[in-house]
Amino acid sequence: MTETFVDGNALAGSLREVFAVDLTEAVGVCAGCGRRGPLAELRLYARAPGLVGRCVGCDGVLLRIVAGSGRSWVDLRGLSVLEVPTVG
Ligand SMILES: [Zn+2]
Repeated sequence: MTETFVDGNALAGSLREVFAVDLTEAVGVCAGCGRRGPLAELRLYARAPGLVGRCVGCDGVLLRIVAGSGRSWVDLRGLSVLEVPTVG
């Protein structure tokens, strides 16, 4: 039986297209309450070791971003979907 998958390197083009845009225009769906809205509407807490974005509907944590030493860590587990506008 022949496997029908390729390795993760095949994601390069798609991920570059998704993450090279202004993500404040992206629309997220809260995994907790299902609220759908632009990331620009999140309640953002910046007085933490990183940035914490909370849902305006249920106050659940939708995303966390920590930057340091030439890299960033992004936790999006509070979003069930992230809809990103792409060029083209
Ligand atoms: Zn919510």
